[in-house]
Amino acid sequence: MSEISLQVDGKQVTVEEGMTILQAARSVGVAIPTLCDHEKLAPYGACRLCTVEADAHGRTNLIAACQHPVEKDLVIRTRTEQLDRIRKVLLEQMLAHAPDSEQIVALAQIYGADPNRFEKDANFCILCGLCVRYCAEIKQKHAVGFFDRGAKREINFIPEIAVRECWDCKECFPLCPTSALQAAYVLTEALMSPPEPVAKGCGGCGG
Ligand code: SF4
Repeated sequence: MSEISLQVDGKQVTVEEGMTILQAARSVGVAIPTLCDHEKLAPYGACRLCTVEADAHGRTNLIAACQHPVEKDLVIRTRTEQLDRIRKVLLEQMLAHAPDSEQIVALAQIYGADPNRFEKDANFCILCGLCVRYCAEIKQKHAVGFFDRGAKREINFIPEIAVRECWDCKECFPLCPTSALQAAYVLTEALMSPPEPVAKGCGGCGG
């Protein structure tokens, strides 16, 4: 496989063709924020926090570093005023959904995101898709999936699969940048195991 040279934040980088800009940046110690990337999963580009500026062929574009493959002589900037503004707004939107997420709060402090900018809509899921993709790509179980569209889009466990596959797995739990996944699972678990019906009458209590 051939090698590609590019520039990231002024650093000359040479990496294998096919690598992403995110991987190339990391290879020289340049950290780009992301909440939906996972080294074992296919790039997804959900959170958009990894948006960077790329100069190529006389033009500057905003691209998702996790999805975009390296190109010869690209000039990448990972931290500019414009990028900081974009990340700030994205994080403010995420905070409206998941105000207590440690990862999001930590990033919000770096980018000066205001936790009260948007009206709270605490469903806790930022739709990063880590759980859905991990279950599909790594475990190949498809026990958790996306449902609905637009503002109603959410993740949920599929009870008939979850009842077979999830009890001994739960490998997706630590991937979730918020507490949404556990909450969805607890709810599913409750639906899968309805409480024992209360017996009518009680021998010793007079009921
Ligand atoms: S439940 Fe967690 S891991 Fe799954 S999509 Fe939502 S935020 Fe991401």
